[in-house]
Amino acid sequence: MDCLFCKIVNGEIPSTKIYEDETVYAFADIAPQAPFHAVIVPKMHIKCADEITEENSFVVAKIFEAAAKIAKSENLEKGYRMVNNCGEEGGQTVGHLHFHLLAGRMLAWPPG
Ligand code: AMP
Ligand code: ZN
Repeated sequence: MDCLFCKIVNGEIPSTKIYEDETVYAFADIAPQAPFHAVIVPKMHIKCADEITEENSFVVAKIFEAAAKIAKSENLEKGYRMVNNCGEEGGQTVGHLHFHLLAGRMLAWPPG
């Protein structure tokens, strides 16, 4: 399958690893939108949030467990934002479920 994030997960495309366990991989975003910007993905290919089911929803829990671990190891005690873009109008550009973990500056709300 021609999926950028599957290729990052299996090492075909290099990335700067931030966190890894049996279910989840997190790496530095190539175009950071904040001083700290990680992309957290499930190792299994799920296209987008629309494809989360009873069978695969455990990966979302694992992603948030990973985010909490990363926040501790990266000292993000001032706060952070987890963002999932889903579909074209949601701003999704890579068709493999992922959450952005953004931190290190005051983040605007609403996001626009
Ligand atoms: P989204 O727009 O929500 O689909 O997010 C895709 C994210 O992947 C963007 O923030 C991109 O900067 C990031 N990205 C694309 N290619 C790479 C790459 N090779 N390594 C790291 N991050 C990437
Ligand atoms: Zn994929």
